[in-house]
Order: sequence, then C-alpha cells, then structure tokens
Amino acid sequence: MSSNYQNYINGEFVAQSADSSIKVYNPANGELLATVPETDSSVVDVAVQAAKKAQPLWAKKTAIQRASYLRKISAKVREHRERLAHIITSEQGKTLGLAQVEVDFTADYIDYMAEWARRIEGEVITSDREGESIFLLRKPIGVVAGILPWNFPFFLIARKLAPALVAGNTIVIKPSEETPINAFEFAKLVAQTDLPAGVFNLVSGKGATTGASLSGHPAVNLISFTGSVKTGSAIMQAAAKNLTRVNLELGGKAPAIVLADADLDLAAKAIVDSRIINSGQVCNCAERVYVERPVAEVFSAKVIALMQAVKIGDPLEDSSNELGPLINQAGLIKVKGMVENARNAGARVALGGSVVDTKAGCYFEPTVLTECRHDMEIMQKEIFGPVLPIQVVDSLDEAIGYANDSEYGLTSSIYTASLSSAMRACHALEFGETYVNRENFEAMQGFHAGRRKSGIGGADGKHGLYEYMETHVVYMQHG
Ligand code: NAD
Repeated sequence: MSSNYQNYINGEFVAQSADSSIKVYNPANGELLATVPETDSSVVDVAVQAAKKAQPLWAKKTAIQRASYLRKISAKVREHRERLAHIITSEQGKTLGLAQVEVDFTADYIDYMAEWARRIEGEVITSDREGESIFLLRKPIGVVAGILPWNFPFFLIARKLAPALVAGNTIVIKPSEETPINAFEFAKLVAQTDLPAGVFNLVSGKGATTGASLSGHPAVNLISFTGSVKTGSAIMQAAAKNLTRVNLELGGKAPAIVLADADLDLAAKAIVDSRIINSGQVCNCAERVYVERPVAEVFSAKVIALMQAVKIGDPLEDSSNELGPLINQAGLIKVKGMVENARNAGARVALGGSVVDTKAGCYFEPTVLTECRHDMEIMQKEIFGPVLPIQVVDSLDEAIGYANDSEYGLTSSIYTASLSSAMRACHALEFGETYVNRENFEAMQGFHAGRRKSGIGGADGKHGLYEYMETHVVYMQHG
C-alpha cells in the first residue's frame, strides 16, 4: 500500500492541481492508511472526456478481443490475491477470509462476463411487410459512470466494469470515499495490462462533490450506482437533467421467514452467519426475522447461543476473529441509536445491545432483539450492523404480509420443510430474490435486482449484461 494515490485517467496516474485530499482510516483501530484525491469537477470532466474519446475505438474491437483484455485483468487480480485481500480488510474491516472470497469472486466475475463475448445475441423477427426482415442489434450505450459503496468495494468494481467493457462501453469509476485504496490498487493492476487508454478511468472523492459531478455530467450515458436509497434518489435527480439512464442497486431490509416445520438448526446458523458476515453490512443479509409461534422460543435460544459465541476483534490481529468493526463512527452511532429506539419501543434486548469499548475501533456487540413488532423502526429501516430483530407470527400469510409491507424489496428468505409453503412464499413475496433454506449470497449467473426502493434495473447474468447495452432495430427491405 502506498500512502498517496493519484487518479487514473486516460491510461495514466495524474496529479491533481488543487491539493485537496481525503484521509482513509482503518476502522479496526483508527490508523491513518492513505490519502486520496478529492477530485474536482474539472478533473471529472477530463476523465469523462477520455472515456468518451476511447469508446468508439473500444466498441470497434470484437467482443472476444475485449474479453481477452478483461482476462488479463482477472489474471492480475489472482496474482495479487493476498495483498488485495489485506488492503480490503485494512480499509473496510471485513475478515481476511471474506476479503479473500471477495478477491476470488471478483476475478471469477470478470472471467464470467468475458465468457459472454461469444453469446451477445440480437434477434431476427418476422415483419408485417412483404420482403422485410426486422433485426434487433445489441450495441454499447457509451460512457458508463460506476459509483460504488464501501461494503464490497473491490467486487463492485468488477460488477460494473466487466459487463460495461465486454459490451463495448468505457467506464469512469468513483469508489466510496471510505474505501478507495483497493480501487487504486486495482487501477495499478490495470495499468500493467495493455488495456487501451481511456477505457477504464478512476477518480476518487466525496459523493456531494466528485460523485455529483460525475452523475450530472452530460457526456455520461449510463450511471450504474450501488449504495443507499437516499443517494440513489439524488443520482436519479441529477440524471434527470440530462435524461441519463440509471441502474440503481440500493438498500435492503431482507426478511427471513422461519416456519414451524423448518430445520431450526439450519435456519438459526444460516441467519446468524448472514447477520455477522461483514459485520451485518450487506444489502442482502437477513435484517428481520418472522418466526412461527410454536418454535419461536427454541429458535430464538439457538440464535442467541450462536450470536453469543461470535468472536469480536481486529480481523488483521487474529484471523479467528469473526466480527470486525463497522465502517466508521457514524455507522456505530446509527446502530446504537436504532437499538435504543427499539428498546424504548418495547423490544427485549436478549443479547448484546452496546458499543464494544475499545480505544479506537468501531465495534458493536452481536445483538438479538426479541418481542419486536412490525411498527418498530428496527423492523422497517436498514440496520447495517450485527443486530437481529425477531418477531413472532401465527402464520405464513402473516409473515408474508409483514415482509412485503416494506419500502425495500431486494432479497428475502424462507425456512421450511414443505415444498408447497416454499412455493407459496416464492409466489407471494414481492422481492427481487428469495433464498429457500439458505441465506446470501447471490450467484453471478443470476439476476440481482431490487423492487420498490431497493433499485431500478439489476446486475449479473445475461439480463445484467444487457443493462449495459442499447437495442437498435433495423427494418431491412430486401424485396
Ligand atoms: P452511499 O449512498 O452513502 O454512498 C455510495 C456512493 O455514492 C459513494 O461512492 C458516495 O461517495 C456516493 N455519493 C454520495 N452522495 C452522492 C451524490 N449526491 N451524488 C453522487 N454520488 C454520491 O452508500 P454507502 O454507505 O457507501 O453504502 C451502503 C449502502 O449501499 C446500503 O444502503 C446498502 O444496502 C447499499 N448496497 C446495496 C447493494 C445492492 O446490490 N443492492 C450492494 C451493496 C450495498
């Protein structure tokens, strides 16, 4: 890791004239890790213009040629696996094991999207007119702006870059100001390949400044954003000025439904793992549980026992630590406040409930809340911390009703031994994804998309790739 980073624009690392910069800290111990540029709008413009200039030449290459560049990048990522994982953990706080999974998944994802090069399909449709064929051609959109959150900072570069590039677009990435270092290290690896200048560009900075300049830029053709609902809405407003397309992957409040016939050990373990992974800071991890009354007590006891056994601490100091810090003090204050509000509203704090007293780290205890009710904030708003609220219900229909009555609609899960209950739930749950007898994560060949305020459009698989393409219709008279 170096201590100062420079934006990567048009194939070069460039110094920014103004000396404004952002400090990046390790959330596990408060250590200063690096400074990165707070990029101003004039430099954002240079990056977007570089991407715009490079795009027609990039699109002229065949898809299989574009894929070969992507494979060189994934090979570099694999070569530097351990170092990259260490960097991700240092600036984001997830366990080293999870950071390694993130790096591996990133490389595999790039290769997966590269495989689509030979499978981008158009269509031929019969025409109503004599002597005519109708062709649907798939074409790149142009310049993509990829704006990223901090929770899977490295993988999300690939989730945007790989489909964008294989489809023939060029891209400007803005990482989160909380976790930009891994993105600069990614840029260094790209710079070691022969990817043509301007195809991939990286600018760092805060949301209200750099992010807003990028999303309001008239030469951007698609904003691919992952982050909070609030920012998604601001980005959509900025996009509206230029009628720029948006692809929004936003927050979640995933319900986990546990029926009386479920394998309770499996359900408790899956839900606890999902709540603990990345310190509960995952858009699709179980955020609220609805358990049927006859098994509520036994299930809650299993959850409490598992949560109690979770080992908290700096993930780099001891690799057996399972629960690292939250991303920052603001995250810690938010989670603490939500637990306090739940307690005041009548929830029982069955386990944890407090900030862990360390000198500098942002740790929150694994927490289980029982006796929760649907009208409580803790059952409605995204927590993004290791806190599991549990509500007792009397039927599957009651659980489905609560699950759907949410502004979020990203992922959901159900635990049952009954095929018909599972199928009934899958049809009735109004979510982008449902996991049956397991929790996250989604597969790269699936389609990750949220309903309601969880997003617009989606990612992954064939449908995710086509989000980065235009459809051009040709009416061909051949007499
Ligand atoms: P955030 O919305 O605060 O920030 C995300 C990015 O947007 C950052 O790069 C930030 O600098 C930028 N930004 C902020 N204001 C902006 C503006 N006005 N214009 C342009 N850019 C702006 O989100 P976060 O705290 O980094 O991430 C956590 C959120 O992300 C959670 O809500 C989580 O559920 C969501 N998330 C969703 C998915 C998904 O696939 N649906 C995946 C990961 C995270």
